Amino acid sequence: MKIGIIGCGQLARMLALAGWPRGLSFSFLAGPQEDPAPVTGLGPIYRMSEGESAESIYEGLGRPEVITTEREQVDVALLSALKAFAPVYPEAHAVSVCQHRAREKQFINDQGIATAPWRPIDGKTDLIALGHQLGWPLFIKSCEDGYDGYNQWRLNGPDTPLPEIPEGVECIAEGGVAFERELSLVAARASNGKVACYPLTENHHTGGILQHSLAPAPSLPEGLQAKAEEMARRLLEALNYVGVLTLELFLVDGELKINELAPRVHNSGHWTQSGALTCQFENHVRAIAGLPLGPTSAPQPSAMVNLLGVEPPNPVICPDAKLHWYNKSVRPGRKVGHLNLTHSDPSQLHRQVEELVAVLYP
Ligand code: AMP
Repeated sequence: MKIGIIGCGQLARMLALAGWPRGLSFSFLAGPQEDPAPVTGLGPIYRMSEGESAESIYEGLGRPEVITTEREQVDVALLSALKAFAPVYPEAHAVSVCQHRAREKQFINDQGIATAPWRPIDGKTDLIALGHQLGWPLFIKSCEDGYDGYNQWRLNGPDTPLPEIPEGVECIAEGGVAFERELSLVAARASNGKVACYPLTENHHTGGILQHSLAPAPSLPEGLQAKAEEMARRLLEALNYVGVLTLELFLVDGELKINELAPRVHNSGHWTQSGALTCQFENHVRAIAGLPLGPTSAPQPSAMVNLLGVEPPNPVICPDAKLHWYNKSVRPGRKVGHLNLTHSDPSQLHRQVEELVAVLYP
């Protein structure tokens, strides 16, 4: 089967690497300015031009039998139009819900699932009054094009100078939640409706960017995994979703609130390459290819450490770590690879992660 991937970054790379052993082949759509280095050698790369038709893109991709995307900031009109030529998973509607914070949070709340308290705002909104109502710190987030803390402002209290939100940028305000931990759940839904979820993962960020993950998240309250899976099931079914969907979560007073959804394989699921019986990339590919999902259990504790603008460490420092290098040039803060580690003893694993983080980010 031929799979067309919209995008040519590291997620596309790892999807292809997971699909190749199953005999699947891949082609990649590069934007006019995009660097396709991560997928070089893994299949044909088609560079689209501005305003190109869906039919021409479909032809350029070599007439794939199914189309998917590695990113959520994708032209949903293009996804819809491509559906005339081949099935597109996840569907345009699901991606469009996840692309817009207000739409996404409303959709989550409509399924009876908690988020931080939020309101749409505009230039006339009294942010001080709203901060008192929703709770400080107050987060102002743009509805679109906001990720990893980008296009986001934080008001610590009524005395914080108000942000200058660029003209025409649609935003929401969100009350701060005093989370104990940030978690995520990577879930997959097959075309026959079967759902499989990975163990909850604990995520640690620096400057709004994921730095490392621990999986399964250690010492969780009992029953939390089942609650997270129930949330995922409800969302996946409501979206009639096929493929991998990731729930980014806050753990607050022992309960889960969703921060956001990612309609794709996710950085916090990279540990599954070494730590789960079937990795998230293979399960996404299986789902969209109409194959049954593989088992998602994790035989032993795992961790993932991102390489953010740094070269891989000398293997001598951590010989058991598995390196995934994305074939990108190193620039400050840029995700250029990650390391996966597993160990039967969680305390040893956490010590290795601490040591690695100290070496990489002194
Ligand atoms: P986001 O872009 O929504 O993923 O937010 C980036 C980071 O900001 C999150 O990973 C949290 O650490 C923090 N954050 C965002 N929203 C909230 C909130 N409502 N309460 C507390 N922390 C938040």
